[in-house]
Amino acid sequence: MNLIELNAIKEHLSKQLAELNAIGVNCINCTEYDQGKCKQYQAQPPKDWLHGSVDCEYWESDNIPF
Ligand code: SF4
Repeated sequence: MNLIELNAIKEHLSKQLAELNAIGVNCINCTEYDQGKCKQYQAQPPKDWLHGSVDCEYWESDNIPF
């Protein structure tokens, strides 16, 4: 790998990382969230989970940008 290739790969990975970091890990972006309810827990998630970061083992997103 030469310097041009190394820099191209680093730039590509940097863009991918930025896109991944832009995905909000919250209920709104979770595939289990549907019309105000969590399908996994059959309940309305706590308000701070809707937009805030969640530490939920069932969180899943289909917004992977690549
Ligand atoms: S599975 Fe977890 S992250 Fe997804 S909607 Fe339910 S509580 Fe939120």
